[in-house]
Amino acid sequence: MKEYLICVDSDGCAMDTMTMKHVRCFGPELVRVFGLEKWETAILKRWNEINLYTKKRGINRFQGLLLILSEVDAQYVKIDGLKKYADWVNHTTAYSEASLQAAVWEAKGCALLEKALIWSQKVNAAIQAIPASDKREFRGVREAFEKMKAVADLAIVSSANREAMEEEWERCGLMPYVDYAMAQDVGTKAVCIKKMIEKGYETSKIVMIGDAMGDFKAASEAGVSFYPILAGKEEASWEHFSKQVLDEIVNGRYTAERQKEEFEEFERGLEG
Ligand SMILES: [Mg+2]
Repeated sequence: MKEYLICVDSDGCAMDTMTMKHVRCFGPELVRVFGLEKWETAILKRWNEINLYTKKRGINRFQGLLLILSEVDAQYVKIDGLKKYADWVNHTTAYSEASLQAAVWEAKGCALLEKALIWSQKVNAAIQAIPASDKREFRGVREAFEKMKAVADLAIVSSANREAMEEEWERCGLMPYVDYAMAQDVGTKAVCIKKMIEKGYETSKIVMIGDAMGDFKAASEAGVSFYPILAGKEEASWEHFSKQVLDEIVNGRYTAERQKEEFEEFERGLEG
């Protein structure tokens, strides 16, 4: 066990898979399932904006759907059943298809709830259909891991499905760098980081690397440092990490002040 621990998020942080899923799957299926072809260009643009380049980056798909349908309802066409769908999103205890299915059965006759479920299933199928060879790590990730290996342990901290995540990391040859792999089956990202603290790493020697506000919040909740991978500038962020930040971390120079600088740039990138 090394003194330092670097926690790394997977989707959109180490793996270049997030933009692809939104551009190829979530957006196009939204337009198709909800019959929004007339406003396709504007709606796709807005979907990607919300989910990739604002503070909402990384939110749950069902919350994202509520946001976009509310905008569509206000700007383009009345969305019947929106209130019922909003009630489910705001009150459900789990953002899962099983929970949505139960709501569909309960609210017989709410076509929107059913469409939301169909959309989610179609998105899953579309994601499944993405060729494995398209799902790669960002350039610079391997170099960063190579440098890290000498001075710190590495934990994946992801809210993705474990099988999917492990398949991607293994196929890309990144698993040999990984000391701990934690996915949604372990709990929230904050819970995952806290498990690492229980193993004996000091909070001041743990850094969470992530691409979304949720990653920053998880790091804060667990009381560890944060280094952001900037949306749309991922390769530069990894290079910066390898060339400068990793050294700062292991020499105790990645201070609160330095983190604030990195965080402010991250925040500016999510104001879209
Ligand atoms: Mg992410």
